Amino acid sequence: MSDAAIGNPIPAPVQVGLRDRFGRHLNYLRVSVTDRCNLRCVYCMPEDMKFRPKRELMSDQEMLTLVRIMAELGVTKLRLTGGEPAVRPNLVELVRTIAQIPGIREISMTTNGLLLPQLAEPLARAGLDRVNISIDTLDPAKFREITRWGNLADVWAGVEAAEAAGLQPIKLNAVVTREFNDDEVIDLARLSLEHAWQIRFIELMPFGSEADFAQGAVVSSQETKAKIEAELGPLHEVPGHDGHDPARPYRLAGARGSLGFISSVSEPFCAGCNRLRLTADGSLRLCLLRDGELDLLTLLRQGLDVEAIKQRIIASVYDKPWGHGLPGGEIPQLRLMSQIGG
Ligand code: SAM
Ligand code: SF4
Repeated sequence: MSDAAIGNPIPAPVQVGLRDRFGRHLNYLRVSVTDRCNLRCVYCMPEDMKFRPKRELMSDQEMLTLVRIMAELGVTKLRLTGGEPAVRPNLVELVRTIAQIPGIREISMTTNGLLLPQLAEPLARAGLDRVNISIDTLDPAKFREITRWGNLADVWAGVEAAEAAGLQPIKLNAVVTREFNDDEVIDLARLSLEHAWQIRFIELMPFGSEADFAQGAVVSSQETKAKIEAELGPLHEVPGHDGHDPARPYRLAGARGSLGFISSVSEPFCAGCNRLRLTADGSLRLCLLRDGELDLLTLLRQGLDVEAIKQRIIASVYDKPWGHGLPGGEIPQLRLMSQIGG
C-alpha cells in the first residue's frame, strides 16, 4: 500500500540542484563579467564592435546577488569569462566575494592573458583556482592578424604569470581556423611535450553577424587529431576523464601535458552538458548555441523577490534545450560569442 493510501503525506521531492527534463544536472555557471575586450579577434567580433551601455550590464552587487541565487540552487563551479574578464574593474574584489559564497567550490577564468602579469597573483590570492588562456598561434605576425592588434609576447607573459601564481593546471585554448592557423596545430601540440599544460583545440562556431567567417573555415577535431598523430605519433587517452568536460584528454608519448579536442560542431557533447551561462547584461542563457534566455537582471530590477526568481530559474532550466541546431543550419542570432560568455 502506498504512503498516500494509508494517509501519510507524500514528501515533496527534494530539490537536489538544478535539473532539466532530460535529467541533466546543471551545476556549472559561466559568468560573462563584461562584454568588453582589449582585443578584436576576427572570428569573435568586428573591429568596430559596439558594446552595451554600462547601465544595461550587471553591477557588482547585481552579479553577486545572481551568483548567490545560482549557488543556492546548486551551482558549485563557476567560470569567469567575457568579453575579456580581466578588463572588468574590481575583478579581484568580485572574485574574493564569490569565493566566499557558500556552495561555490571552484572558480576558473577564461582569458586572453594580456592582463595576467598584473592580475594573476592578486586573483589567485582572492580565490581564483585556475585559468584557460587563449592562444591561437605561435607566430607573432599571425597573432596580430587574428586579434587585430595583439602582441603575442604579452600572452606568454600572462602564461608565465599564471604559472608563477599557481593558477594550475593551465589550459591553453586554440580555435582552429582553416587556412589561418590549421598549419600550426602540430607546433601547438608540441607544447604539451615540455609543459604540464593542456592544449585544447576548439572547433570554430558560427554566431550571428560573424557567422560568415565560419563558413568553410571549420576544421573538425577529427582532422586536427589526425594531423597531429601523423606527425607526432599516436595519442593515448588519459584515464579519469570528467564526463562533463567537453575536451576528452589525450597524451603524446612521453609528454608532460595533454591535448584536448572540443568538437562542438562535429560531435556535440550535449548529453554531458552541465552548463548554464549568465550574460554580462544578466540573462541566463540555457545553451551556448541556442538563443533561449531568461532575463534575470530585469526581474531583479523589477523587485521580484529571491524565491520568485528561483522558481523562474528552476522552470527555465527544466526546459533547457537538448542540443544545438547547427547541423540543420540553425545559427544563434541574438548574440556573438563575446556577448554570451564563451
Ligand atoms: N576573452 C577571453 C578569451 O579570449 O579567452 C574570454 C572570452 S572568449 C569569447 C572565450 C573563448 O571563446 C576563447 O577561447 C575564444 O577563442 C573562443 N571563441 C570566440 N569566438 C569563437 C567562435 N566563433 N568559435 C569558437 N570559439 C570561439
Ligand atoms: Fe576578446 Fe576573447 Fe573575443 Fe578575442 S576571443 S575578441 S580576446 S573576447
